[in-house]
Formats: sequence, structure tokens, C-alpha cells
Amino acid sequence: MTSPARILVVEDEPEIRRFLRVSLEHHGFRLDEVTTVREAITQAAMQPPDLMILDLGLPDGDGLDVIKNIRGWSPLPIVVLSARGQEQDKVLALDAGADDYLTKPFGIEELLARVRVALRHAARAVGDEGAAVFQIGELCVDQAARRVTLHDREVHLTPTEYKLLTLLVRHAGKVMTHRQLLKEVWGPGSAHETQYLRVFMAALRQKLEDQPAQPRYLLTELGVGYRLAAE
Ligand code: CA
Repeated sequence: MTSPARILVVEDEPEIRRFLRVSLEHHGFRLDEVTTVREAITQAAMQPPDLMILDLGLPDGDGLDVIKNIRGWSPLPIVVLSARGQEQDKVLALDAGADDYLTKPFGIEELLARVRVALRHAARAVGDEGAAVFQIGELCVDQAARRVTLHDREVHLTPTEYKLLTLLVRHAGKVMTHRQLLKEVWGPGSAHETQYLRVFMAALRQKLEDQPAQPRYLLTELGVGYRLAAE
């Protein structure tokens, strides 16, 4: 990477801002900081960052309004900060177009992983469709050949299982909400049929996980959705 990625932090709690600054600058990122909804939108428009880290509870309003505004004109990756137990807030933020979330309190490793994934995802969206072959651990998904292997052995998936898996592959590392997955795989009319997802995810885990009850690849984000492990 030639120049360091610029991150715009939108957070009104000074301790969290300081933690983010110390952690991210130490790892070579450049930071700008603002504390309100209004400043977040203005700053993102005036000096577009490479990524935004956004607190949802801001003094002059809801971080959700920042996401909705920005998604009207920019694909800027947005990682949301939310307090523990506020699953519904995360879901609303992700459905509004946020890329990922961190639950407070979070550690530096988790923060860096989320930032890396979101930046990589944004770079891939700008460039080509990404590698046609996705590999993680013993799982390999070759989208050009429509071939899925585990431990070098071919796994047979139904068309719906394959569609669900490749959707997660295209967003590897990023959490997808139940609603997003249902809409993409089953169509807009099925956005609330979460039992479809449970059934198909269980089937995928049976076929792709060594220990389906303790998945290594197809991860559950409790109350939010699913994430395909990316690293
Ligand atoms: Ca706050």
C-alpha cells in the first residue's frame, strides 16, 4: 500500500476515541475525528476517508442517519460501534448499509480485523469481482468451475445451498443480516422467513464443517445474521 488508509472516527466518548487513535495510528492508519452526526456527514463529503468508524449514539442524533445519508451518495465502508446487547441496532445499521460492527467493549485485534476486512471488501468492489477461487482452511469454493471442495474432496450442494454459500463468499469476513441473505437468495418476498435460513445453514454446516455444532467457517452472529470466516 502506498499511502496509509485514512479513517474517519465518529465517536463522542473521549476514552474510546483515544483507544481508537492509539490502536490505529500504531498500525499505520491516519485518523480524523469528529463527534456528531452533522460533522460526520460534512467531513465525509469534504474529505472522503477510506473507512468510517461510527458510534450509533451521538449527541445530536442517531448514527443510523449518518449511514442512510452517506449510502445515498457513497459506498464508503462503515464499521459501526454499538453497545452490548443492542442486536436490533446492529441489524438496523447493517440493513441500512453499514459494512460491519464492533460491540463495545472491543479489543484491538477485533478492531483491526474488522477494519482490514472492510477495506479489503471496498477495494474488491472497486476492482474486479475478486478471486474466482475462495480458500480458507480446508474449504475451497471455485466459482468459475462451480465446484466446492473440503479436504480436496468434492462436496455436492443443492442449487440453493450453493447460492447461499457463494453469497457469503462474495462478502467473506463481513456479517450479513438474516434479511440481506433471505432477500438475495429467496427474493424480497421472503425477507422474514428466517427458518429457511436456519434449515439451509444447518445443511451447509453438515456438509462443510468438520464439527457442524462448532463451526469454523460458517459463523453465527447471534440475533444478527451469519458471517463466513475470512482469515
Ligand atoms: Ca456515544
